[in-house]
Amino acid sequence: MVELTGVNKHFGSLHVLRDINLTVSTGEVVVVIGPSGSGKSTLCRTINRLETIDSGTIHLDGNPLPAEGKALAGLRSEVGMVFQSFNLFAHKTVLENVTLGPVKVRKSKRADAEKEALALLERVGVASQKDKYPAQLSGGQQQRVAIARALAMKPKVMLFDEPTSALDPEMINEVLDVMTSLAREGMTMVVVTHEMGFARRAADRVVFMADGQVVEQAAPNDFFTNPSSERARDFLSKIL
Ligand code: ADP
Ligand code: MG
Repeated sequence: MVELTGVNKHFGSLHVLRDINLTVSTGEVVVVIGPSGSGKSTLCRTINRLETIDSGTIHLDGNPLPAEGKALAGLRSEVGMVFQSFNLFAHKTVLENVTLGPVKVRKSKRADAEKEALALLERVGVASQKDKYPAQLSGGQQQRVAIARALAMKPKVMLFDEPTSALDPEMINEVLDVMTSLAREGMTMVVVTHEMGFARRAADRVVFMADGQVVEQAAPNDFFTNPSSERARDFLSKIL
């Protein structure tokens, strides 16, 4: 579903992605972990073309990422993204946040978009909040709306960049639970997180990044019990 081959990215003289090769199969859940500054967010942002790359190729569902124009907008709707900060439209209600993309980008009929949005809000457990504005919701509720909004575009893959890092501790699990059920339902997912419990529970594969490189990747159980690189052992000793 997602294939990066020899991807390099610089910010000025900083080489932030170094020869990244990464394949994510349909229905696979890949959790990306690694120290701050290792390039995890940049990796996510290249997959939905929020960042350009200097060399290499990225394919989505067999097609190279389009550079611009209509095709790029189409791609954006195929790649759902949930960020650390909730990024909801502040002056739109919860329901409007979820229907906006389908109506504007996918040209869905409003009635159909609303019906689907309600079903999605139900699924993430915030349907009763549909007429509120984001500021009236808790962080955990806002993040679940953000997930519903991304799902409303019927993405082929969902990217999550530290979706629980800005949440109060008691709200983390309500978001991770939604992500876990998405994973169980077969969504293709790339998840950057420090939640190792989630990685153990939901990941098919853990990818460990450091200094812009994929240092190792393995099934979660193998990675957590027997990491093969010194960098990963050192990282795990600091967070576990
Ligand atoms: P991570 O998500 O793993 O913490 P990032 O992908 O955010 O890492 O950042 C990787 C490196 O690239 C860091 O050194 C960061 O400071 C740098 N960086 C990220 N975005 C930009 C940008 N827009 N301009 C310049 N440097 C950036
Ligand atoms: Mg980051």
